[in-house]
Amino acid sequence: MTRSRIDISVVVPVYNEQGNLPALFARLYPVLDGLRRSYEIIFTNDGSADGTREILAGQHALRPDVTRVIEFNANYGQHMAVMAGFERVRGEVVVTLDADLQNPPEEIPNLLAKIEEGYDCVGGMRQDRQDSLFRRRVSQAVNLVRASLTSIRMTDQGCMLRAYSRNVVDGIVRSGATNTFIPALAYSLARKPTEIPVAHEERHAGTSNYSLYKLIRLNFDLITYFTTAPLQLFTIFAMACSACSFLLVVVLGTRRLVIGPEEGGIFTLFGILFFLISVCMVGIGLIGEYMGRTYQVVRGNTRYHISHILESQNHE
Ligand code: UDP
Ligand code: MG
Repeated sequence: MTRSRIDISVVVPVYNEQGNLPALFARLYPVLDGLRRSYEIIFTNDGSADGTREILAGQHALRPDVTRVIEFNANYGQHMAVMAGFERVRGEVVVTLDADLQNPPEEIPNLLAKIEEGYDCVGGMRQDRQDSLFRRRVSQAVNLVRASLTSIRMTDQGCMLRAYSRNVVDGIVRSGATNTFIPALAYSLARKPTEIPVAHEERHAGTSNYSLYKLIRLNFDLITYFTTAPLQLFTIFAMACSACSFLLVVVLGTRRLVIGPEEGGIFTLFGILFFLISVCMVGIGLIGEYMGRTYQVVRGNTRYHISHILESQNHE
């Protein structure tokens, strides 16, 4: 099978975006046509329940030369949708962006210009981010944790408007990663990463697909994939706790011998006990997060299942 190489692959994960796709097509295709370079756009339909599937099929019929559609049988999440696109890209440069127009397609030429300068991983830094205060605060907190626990250095890890050289994308695919965070994984594989400011817009239509639960899971993926530091910090904390508890036992034992039986101390003890139990529960949960991910890999379960692919013959 000979795969003809092309210049640019754009990968777009799509989940229940029927209200956004027509506007996305109207802005994305002209930008890419205007580059006068060969390109393809790979949309991964991540198990949408709305009219996304039909709209994507319609677009494929309209522009079969440059449009490819990967259909998942169910919802596997944004990063797995991008991964499925990465496995099939033909472009020398790969660009990712969201389908809800929060990432303006007009920024793509700026990302490509940086790749031309010799960078192999170009991240966007969202200027004047148009998300809720809560989302911005969560990002700040996770940024802080990620920066202190891992060696990944980036300003805006959550921005999906990014460009990668093909080499980095091939590395991501070869890693076989599940439960990962693609911008961070790309950074860890890049030789010369950089960031540029990009505009950020409000979601064109609909609401964010990230529920609080999905957001927590995603951020756990980010931290646990790249470091086991939380486990090590927990052990150190547990050691400090046991040292303090030992001291407490010595103090209480001495008081019992010197002063005799005392009342009231029992509540302090309960307080300490409840605190330590809650710490234990957090630790068990933490171990569970790592265990669960290890189990998934050991079990070798499929990361996602593709029900079918729409692409014209010359794509294969
Ligand atoms: N997305 C996806 N699968 C999901 C959730 C989201 O493919 O399970 C896509 C979604 O269609 C969009 C991008 O990932 O193109 C970002 O999602 P969203 O806008 O909901 O996230 P936010 O901007 O709130 O972080
Ligand atoms: Mg969005």
